[in-house]
Amino acid sequence: MAVVGFIGLGTMGAPMARNLLKAGHALRVFDVSAEARAALTEAGAVAADTALAAAEGADFVITMLPNDAIVSAVHLGPEGLIEMLAARPLLIDCSTISPDTSRALSRAAAAKGFAMIDAPVSGGPGGATDATLSFMVGGSEADFARAEPILQAMGRMIVHAGDSGAGQVAKLCNNMTAAVVMAATAEALALGISQGLDPAKLSGIMANSSAASFVLDRWNPWPGVMPEAPASRGYTGGFQLGLMLKDLNLAIANARDAGASVPFGALAQSLYMLQNRRSPDAGRADFSSIQTIFTRPC
Ligand code: NAD
Repeated sequence: MAVVGFIGLGTMGAPMARNLLKAGHALRVFDVSAEARAALTEAGAVAADTALAAAEGADFVITMLPNDAIVSAVHLGPEGLIEMLAARPLLIDCSTISPDTSRALSRAAAAKGFAMIDAPVSGGPGGATDATLSFMVGGSEADFARAEPILQAMGRMIVHAGDSGAGQVAKLCNNMTAAVVMAATAEALALGISQGLDPAKLSGIMANSSAASFVLDRWNPWPGVMPEAPASRGYTGGFQLGLMLKDLNLAIANARDAGASVPFGALAQSLYMLQNRRSPDAGRADFSSIQTIFTRPC
C-alpha cells in the first residue's frame, strides 16, 4: 500500500480520497478549507497544514483543484511542490485544466527530477463516490503504469491517452462533444414539441434513429421524459452548466492554440455562456438546462 498526498478535498476530491482510504492506502491530505480537512481526518486520513506538508514523504501526490491558476500556484508558487519538495513522488493532477498548463507543469517537474502526469476524470460526483470514474491519462508509459494501481482505487476505466497533456485534450474533446450534442438535441426537441409532438414519443423516435446519443439514452433535457434525468428534478444534480462552460472555454482556447477550427464548439460556448447569464443560479443547474434557451424567454 502506498502513502498518498491528496490536495483539494471538494466535491470530487473528498470522495476520491475516501476511496483511496478504503483501498488501504495511507493518506495525508490538505485543503484550504479546515472543514474539508476535518471531514477526511474523521475518515482516517492525516491532515496537514500546507500542501507541501501533505506531499512531503508521499509516494504519490494527487491534486484535484478548481483551475489552472490554483494548480500552477500549488506546484510552482513560493511553497510550490515542484520548487520545494525534498523527495520525488509521482505527481498526478486530476483537475481539469488547459493541456498547455499541464505540459508546462510536467516540463517544470522534469527539470527538477519529478514525473508529473495529467489524469482528468469523467463521471462526476456520483462516479467519484462509487469509484467508477474514467481517468484519461497523459504522460509516459512508465509513469502511467506506476499510477494505474492508485487510479484503479478511484475509477473503472483508466486509459493512457498519450504524452503529457493528452489526458486533458481527451477530456476537452469529450466534453465539447457532449455540450454540442446536448444543445442540438434540445433544439430539435423544442422544434418538434412546438408543433404538438409528444416529448416522450419524439425522444423515442430519435433515440432509435440516426439522432441517437447519450442525451436521448440517459440525459433527456425535456422535463418528465426520463424520471431519473436532472431535467425531471428541476435540473438539479447532474453536471453543473458552469463547469461545462469552464470546459468549453478550455476547449476553445486549446483549439486556438492548436490552430484547429471548432465552429460547433464555439457556438456551444456562446449558448452556454448566454444560459449562464440568464439567472443568478443558472450556472449551478445541470447543463441539460440549456433546453430552456429554446423554450423560455429570459
Ligand atoms: P470544488 O470547488 O468542489 O473543490 C475544489 C477544492 O479545492 C475545494 O475544497 C477548495 O477549498 C480546494 N482548494 C482551492 N484552492 C486550494 C489550494 N490552493 N490548496 C488546496 N486546496 C484548495 O471542485 P470540484 O467539483 O471538486 O472539481 C475539482 C476539479 O475536477 C476541477 O478542475 C473540475 O473542473 C474537475 N471536475 C469536476 C467535476 C464535477 O462534476 N464536479 C467532474 C469532472 C471534473
